[in-house]
Amino acid sequence: MKLPKIELYTKILIGLILGVIVGIIGNKIGIVPFLVVYVKPFGTAFIRLISMIVVPLVFASLLIGTASLDDVRKLGRIGGKTVFFYLCTTAFAIIIGLFLANLMKPGEGLSKETQEQLLVNYGNEAALKIDSALNKPSLGNTILNIIPKNPIKSMADGAMLQIIFFALIFGIALTLIPKDKSGPVIQFFEGVNEAMIQIVHIIMIFAPYGVFALIAAIIGEFGIGILGPLLKYSFVVIIGLVLHIIITYTTLIKIFTNIKLRDFFKGIRPAQLIAFSSSSSSAALPVTMECAENNLGVSKEVSSFILPLGATINMDGTALYQGVAAVFIAQVFGMDLTISQQLTIVLTATLASIGAAGVPGVGMITLTMVLKTVGIPLEGIALILGVDRILDMCRSMVNITGDSTCAVVIASMEKKRINNEQ
Ligand code: ASP
Repeated sequence: MKLPKIELYTKILIGLILGVIVGIIGNKIGIVPFLVVYVKPFGTAFIRLISMIVVPLVFASLLIGTASLDDVRKLGRIGGKTVFFYLCTTAFAIIIGLFLANLMKPGEGLSKETQEQLLVNYGNEAALKIDSALNKPSLGNTILNIIPKNPIKSMADGAMLQIIFFALIFGIALTLIPKDKSGPVIQFFEGVNEAMIQIVHIIMIFAPYGVFALIAAIIGEFGIGILGPLLKYSFVVIIGLVLHIIITYTTLIKIFTNIKLRDFFKGIRPAQLIAFSSSSSSAALPVTMECAENNLGVSKEVSSFILPLGATINMDGTALYQGVAAVFIAQVFGMDLTISQQLTIVLTATLASIGAAGVPGVGMITLTMVLKTVGIPLEGIALILGVDRILDMCRSMVNITGDSTCAVVIASMEKKRINNEQ
């Protein structure tokens, strides 16, 4: 698979900077209506393109992810433990992200008028969702609503939790029927998934122009002040990632293994560097496996199951970033997220991270699904896209650190079990 070139992200950054400059000048010389009428539509087109592929991308990749859990069943005990470990650490990562974003409030500080205006200009869908959130169904009904009455209608409406529910059930069913029947279906969706990822790459070619257009219009209308919170946002994501490593991973390694922390981090450093520089946990996979086997003493049997599965379904860094980004964008738009909306973020971002492929920038695409589920305007993505590359590098590094932590923990549990049995 061809990964987007690094230069693309430099172009996006240039798009952002030019957008800021044109926005400021436009604001000063009074050509904001021109920007809004003639420039902003390019940005809107970009956002629509991203929205276009979310449903098929998430459906196909979740379906394949679940169907690949067939091996999990075969591996019985290890498989169950691994999936449990992955889901728990991911949920924990999002909780850290949400906690920090609520505590440090990176998106606050804009005036009430700016926020209201933003919502009027960019958030018509959001306003509708807020309306329906006011007459929100009970918790019981919210849970019942996850079960789609008609999955085709859920897809047409973009009801993400219903789509996810159906994809999971479909994937599980595929593991239960004979291989000659399930094989072609899985292959078909593998093709769909591959094509969707290719579309992501094509859409990303337009990203610099989309970002330019959206930022020029937004700064033209609201002034440069709207970018202030962006630095704080990046800072919160990075702090969250560091805390997740320090709190979650080191604690797990200390409790479950005899490996010294220094040896662990030294052992996986090459893999971390590859993940950081390529922004891709899939690209780093061969090195991650080698590091786990040669430097950390994980058996080939354990590493060859846990690490590829992790590179596909375990994305703690991505999930944490999605938690922070969702709260950040909501704060920028002056929306208050209720506890149940935040719990929905934990659920959706955990599932979105299963549905995200380990390639550059995909976390940003599946973020739209998290935003959509809680009714946050997708246009907010324009604000964070300019800094996405650097955060993608950091989160990919955390993603493979999480996979490696799981590998050493499960490997030592297995060793202890074998020793006890002898
Ligand atoms: N680039 C990330 C990874 O490969 C996924 C993402 O968050 O975009 O792990």
